[in-house]
Amino acid sequence: MGTSIVWFRRDLRLADNPAWSAGTAAEGVCALFIIDPSLFDVVTPKRRSVLAAGLESLDQSLARLGGRLRVEVGRPVDIVPSVASELGAGEVHINREVTPFGTQRDNAVSELVDLRESDGLYIHPPGSISTDGDRAYQVFRPFFEKWGSRPVQIVPKPGAASIIDNPGTGAPVPDREVGRYGEDAALERLETFAGRVEDYDRIRDRADLDKTSRLSIDLKYGFISPLRIMVSVEGGDSGRRAFVRQLAWRDFWAHLLAENPSMLSSPLREKYAAVPWRTDAESVRRWKQGQTGYPLVDAGMRQLLDEGWMHNRVRMVAASFLVKDLLIDWTVGERHFRRHLLDADVAQNAGNWQWVAGTGADAAPYFRVFNPVMQSHKFDPDGEYIRRWVPELADLPASMTHEPWKVAPLDLAVHGVALGDSYPDPIVDHSMARQRAIDAYRSAAG
Ligand code: FAD
Repeated sequence: MGTSIVWFRRDLRLADNPAWSAGTAAEGVCALFIIDPSLFDVVTPKRRSVLAAGLESLDQSLARLGGRLRVEVGRPVDIVPSVASELGAGEVHINREVTPFGTQRDNAVSELVDLRESDGLYIHPPGSISTDGDRAYQVFRPFFEKWGSRPVQIVPKPGAASIIDNPGTGAPVPDREVGRYGEDAALERLETFAGRVEDYDRIRDRADLDKTSRLSIDLKYGFISPLRIMVSVEGGDSGRRAFVRQLAWRDFWAHLLAENPSMLSSPLREKYAAVPWRTDAESVRRWKQGQTGYPLVDAGMRQLLDEGWMHNRVRMVAASFLVKDLLIDWTVGERHFRRHLLDADVAQNAGNWQWVAGTGADAAPYFRVFNPVMQSHKFDPDGEYIRRWVPELADLPASMTHEPWKVAPLDLAVHGVALGDSYPDPIVDHSMARQRAIDAYRSAAG
């Protein structure tokens, strides 16, 4: 059986990893991770640190089995064939990716080595759930029905291959405190969440409670498999069902991207390419900095910059604010989220941005515009989330946090707020902006 290579990418775990199970069926296996400077050098230090923590954890797991994670720096198209020829390795095992960047890279590598693909990143791999016409579903509900009725693929246990004990250049060292990441930490997060999943459907939208699983970063790097998560939480109650449905959305966007690589930058509904977007660098700057004067939007945008994460409901409101209230092209926001989110995932990010913008699959009709004030009352009723992230408003009572511009200046002053000075006036009037967006979309829709 000789030696094989398992090339880890977005699957930094040993359990439920089909590529690892396939590769360890050989006599010897090299566990390889490649740091591609074209990706690694351009991401935020926080994201580099999460990756570094995850690699360290994988290395420790391999060390417990007598081997090491081999880390090399360079272009995969150079490194993979060179390590294969050095070790005399026959097969190189990977889990299949759906991004245009990933598929092009893997196609190039497969010209040079015997690349064996498995499906380990999704519950049902992209391409496996399709319409009767063999296309990706454009609407989530029928996709979800088929998705839920399909048996899942159980991943075989890893084989007994001896793991090569060569660390290569070694894993990078985290240079930021980002918390614990890796297979063990992800399992602990899952266990904690599984203990309270029954409430998920009731409280998932409450930004102030912050009770979602926070497993998105683990899923992005593959510290845990989505199948493992599903098996741990699925069950009959409405909280469990609602949670599994969210995991299906993750598969839905990956299926769509596999069929439509252009959805990363172009609207899935082509007619919306003609929306007359505004160009307004100052508004974009204020949105990015959390200085729009709409407290819920600002709280979310500041959470993004500080934590590299944002609550899902607030992502929707903040994204809608950029696209509808400011009438800025969704790709501007997609790029900003992609840069700062620690869970940034091109399929999920572009899919959700297009959903919010009404330009994509299963999107709400364009005339449904999120009202940032109503959303704030509903999903942060006591203003706690806002107070956490917008310290200028921290002393305001709940009733004043959602629309400070409606409060008399003297009342604001009592609580230390001077509108237009310590906290901005609203950047735009929502009613005017709503109508402007509807008119702009209508002109494009024809
Ligand atoms: P939970 O509520 O605990 O959900 C569990 C898992 O289900 C998540 O980890 C995620 O994998 C999946 N999930 C939940 N909601 C969605 C959704 N709407 N679409 C797809 N999968 C979902 N998610 C990303 O993983 N990466 C992104 O880059 C990303 N960008 C987004 C951009 C916008 C504009 C919006 C509105 C949403 C985006 N999401 C993205 C989806 C969602 O916001 C996050 O997955 C979720 O907030 C992660 O937190 P959690 O793990 O606590 O979620």
